[in-house]
Amino acid sequence: MSCSICHREVTGHIDVREYELTDGTPVVSMDSSPDRDWILCDSCNALVCHDCCRYPQSGYCNTCIDKYNLTGYLTQVGSIPRREDQCL
Ligand SMILES: [Zn+2]
Ligand SMILES: [Zn+2]
Repeated sequence: MSCSICHREVTGHIDVREYELTDGTPVVSMDSSPDRDWILCDSCNALVCHDCCRYPQSGYCNTCIDKYNLTGYLTQVGSIPRREDQCL
């Protein structure tokens, strides 16, 4: 696997597990390995390494953040540190 922007090899992986709760509700859980240095964009499914992503913890690539103007929303939900936090 490689980054769709800089094309370097990425490390780490995501384990997707599907299971059922006791009441039969299907659940998909995703566990990422601790050395994972990339994201799969929630919006466009692009594989982007952390070096090419401004806000890897948001789960969105730069392109989608710009395209959908997600900065305000991501700040609200806490995926991006607020400007005030950075100044403190
Ligand atoms: Zn990259
Ligand atoms: Zn994207």
